[in-house]
Amino acid sequence: MKSALSSPATGERGGGRSRIPFFDQSESFRRLWPEIEGNCVRVMGDGKFSHGSMVAEFEREMERYTGARHVVGVNSGTDALVLLLRAAGLRPGDEVIVPAYTFVATATAVVHAGGVPVFADIEDHGYGVSPDAVADAVTARTRMVMPVHLFDRLADMEGVGRVARAHGLTVVEDSAEAIGMRLHGTHAGLLGAGGVLSFFPAKTLGAVGDAGALLTDDDAIAETARMLRHHGRSGHTLAAFPGISNPTVVTGGNSKMDDLQAAVLLAKLTRLDADIRRRTVLSRRYDDRLRGLPGVRAVPGDAATRSGEERVVYVHLVEVDDRDGLVAHLDAAGIGTEVYYPRPLHLQPCFAHLGYRPGALPRAEAVCRSAVALPLYADLSEERVDRVCDEVERFLTGGSR
Ligand SMILES: *Cc1c(COP(=O)(O)O)cnc(C)c1O
Repeated sequence: MKSALSSPATGERGGGRSRIPFFDQSESFRRLWPEIEGNCVRVMGDGKFSHGSMVAEFEREMERYTGARHVVGVNSGTDALVLLLRAAGLRPGDEVIVPAYTFVATATAVVHAGGVPVFADIEDHGYGVSPDAVADAVTARTRMVMPVHLFDRLADMEGVGRVARAHGLTVVEDSAEAIGMRLHGTHAGLLGAGGVLSFFPAKTLGAVGDAGALLTDDDAIAETARMLRHHGRSGHTLAAFPGISNPTVVTGGNSKMDDLQAAVLLAKLTRLDADIRRRTVLSRRYDDRLRGLPGVRAVPGDAATRSGEERVVYVHLVEVDDRDGLVAHLDAAGIGTEVYYPRPLHLQPCFAHLGYRPGALPRAEAVCRSAVALPLYADLSEERVDRVCDEVERFLTGGSR
């Protein structure tokens, strides 16, 4: 393991310039290896590989970090969303309003929880759901609204909250990307009935495989989620569990978190705030170089920070006119990118039966054509950010540098 860790993950390319991957954390693993190894050895000795003491310890540490009354560790951010929706009382056929521009799991989780997603467009200046669009999407069957905090900032929780109160909707948050983000000191995921975190490897706090968590200040939601993640606690069908007021909770499943993931996450958590600060530094460096170049429509720093909002840059997204051309240029230059997100959810094949037409949610559709994420992670060097900026500039200015 040590020898594998000491060899670079990225190969050299022509001219001796190494490829800049979209995501890489081999340096972080090298640095944290003694702690990770120690925690993993403890799990092996303990012999409890899921739902064990390392998971419990991680949950307590995450409660401290987020200020949540309850953190429930599970196997992925996606399952955390399903459990959250079910535990918060979604009933079969209930509608949940979600943004059209987000990762597909936001809406598929609604389906898996028995609900029907209803798509709303995003804000003109930002990537969060538009409160006005939420208000327009409310019907007699709407039970919940699930704003998503994408990339580097929170959705408009005050605006969404006003609409939710006016229509009696429960607010749950897809805060999968939002670790470290806070509004007036309250961590993302705790601004409504509950939220989630994803520890997918490329997230700000990443595991070495899939892992996630549900966070809430609500005792009943936490208790229900703990049962749902573990076969209704006893391995039997959960019919009417004592203390559960929610009659839609019928059957549990298996969404438990692995202790080896918790072992890695506990070690990485000690570096989280330092990693977040590093991401901010690198993101500003990109902004300073790229803002105002021809063909650049928006850089992250352009979106005004809301009052009381603490932002964390999970993804450095830029919007450019010729996105596909830029992606191809950077790839040829040995630079990895990701397109977040290539297709708005209302036009995904799995939601075709809902009957949305192209043009229905124009802002989400436009961003899907122009947005691209550049490499951003704590291990990235300034020199590499500058190389990415050089190539973006070369492409946008027609090689006139
Ligand atoms: C990553 C992500 C998820 C899903 O999390 P997984 O841990 O990959 O299942 C859900 N919603 C959003 C917005 C995400 O970015």
